[in-house]
Amino acid sequence: MRLVLFDIDGTLLLSGGAGTRSLHRAFQVRYGIEPDSTSIRFDGKTDPLIIQELISEYDLDDEPGQELYDIYLSILPDEIRRSPDFQVLAGARELVIRLSADPDFLIGLATGNVETGARLKLERAGLSSYFPFGGYGSDSGDRTELIRTAIRRGSELTAPLVPDEVFVIGDTPRDIRHGRAAGGITIAVATGNYGLDELRSHDPDLAVAGLQPMGPILEFMASGSRTGRKAVAEEAGPGP
Ligand SMILES: [Mg+2]
Repeated sequence: MRLVLFDIDGTLLLSGGAGTRSLHRAFQVRYGIEPDSTSIRFDGKTDPLIIQELISEYDLDDEPGQELYDIYLSILPDEIRRSPDFQVLAGARELVIRLSADPDFLIGLATGNVETGARLKLERAGLSSYFPFGGYGSDSGDRTELIRTAIRRGSELTAPLVPDEVFVIGDTPRDIRHGRAAGGITIAVATGNYGLDELRSHDPDLAVAGLQPMGPILEFMASGSRTGRKAVAEEAGPGP
């Protein structure tokens, strides 16, 4: 049994800034400030980490608590629904459908979004039902921890089978670093804000331009050995 954990933003879909706008509005409502969206880079970070950084940046001297999340989650559904630039990334739906139909694979989420936010985004994309479980920003602000949580939940779901290989797919250096720390084999996709060369400099096990074509990704995951995977990865593109 192989477990494949997908990041959401920049990997499966682009929300067109819906998450960022919702968080900014939540800060406006809760603290009366308008955060400058250029001051903190959001991608690859968990919701709790982003909120913590904004609170430090603006010296708000506060533990965010549930209230800020409640405001955020009250704004998010509408922002996602009417986000004009929302899009499912090329090949994402096809890969997800392909893997969920394969009895050798179990797919789940490893995302910094809190679970409700993750579900809202996946529902608009029509992908939510393919992901029976995951690790979320609501499980931990630490991405390594939430990936471990996803692995544990996946293992419980496939019991008594334990996944012999875990793949973590994401679009940022953080997905690579934390995926590796959690014991995963890392696949980097250059469909977010990071290019292939920059992702490769963080030494993922495989780096691809996107989820389309899915051939190289499937071949990589099907290779049962580290050497086999390395050969496929090298064929997919030279290192930096
Ligand atoms: Mg991402």
